[in-house]
Amino acid sequence: MINLTQIRKSYSTEFTSLEVLKGIDLHIAEGEFVSIMGSSGSGKSTLLNILGILDDYDSGDYHLDGTLIKNLSQTQAAQYRNKFLGFVFQSFNLLPFKTAWENVALPLYYQKTDRKIREKKSVEYLEKVGLKDWANHYPNQMSGGQQQRVAIARALITNPKVILADEPTGALDTQTSHDVMDIFQDVHDLGMTVIIVTHEEDIAEKTQRVIRLQDGNIIS
Ligand code: ADP
Ligand code: MG
Repeated sequence: MINLTQIRKSYSTEFTSLEVLKGIDLHIAEGEFVSIMGSSGSGKSTLLNILGILDDYDSGDYHLDGTLIKNLSQTQAAQYRNKFLGFVFQSFNLLPFKTAWENVALPLYYQKTDRKIREKKSVEYLEKVGLKDWANHYPNQMSGGQQQRVAIARALITNPKVILADEPTGALDTQTSHDVMDIFQDVHDLGMTVIIVTHEEDIAEKTQRVIRLQDGNIIS
């Protein structure tokens, strides 16, 4: 599903250049449930943003579902993101003035899906994450764990091939973190490829395979 060969990425300013990824080789098969571990600043988000076609890389090759992801225009990048990928972030990124179902429905709104269908499908996805009765609540009326489950439902609604999550439990307490990981496990059980960035061992332990990043290289 995901194939990286010798991916390099540097951040440069006028005076300095920092090589964050130093030749990453990585293969993630369809349906795998993996975590990317590493200390703060080890390049986890940089790597995930490249996988998510949110950022470019300097050299190497990235194939996603057999397609070479390289030198894309903004429009092409957006098309591939919409077709293949769902995102979950540490800070949930829900719109505060939209209800739970309206937040879940957003990707469908951008696909110009009819409102009736949007609502029906969103409620179905809220049900999948255990929030059927919360469809008309606003984010500030929900706990952090519930908001993250809304965000996961939003990531799933377009039926992406890969779910990418950057520190999805970073803002949650231990019990809620484990509940959220159970949802990712369910998503994995449905056959989706799930990739989770974390710096917490107990979160990484819940995945099938742990990829460890250190100083811009994969160490195991
Ligand atoms: P992690 O997610 O593992 O904490 P990041 O991928 O966010 O690490 O960052 C890796 C390194 O790259 C850090 O030293 C960070 O300061 C640097 N960095 C990240 N993004 C940028 C950027 N846009 N410009 C300059 N440096 C950056
Ligand atoms: Mg990060």
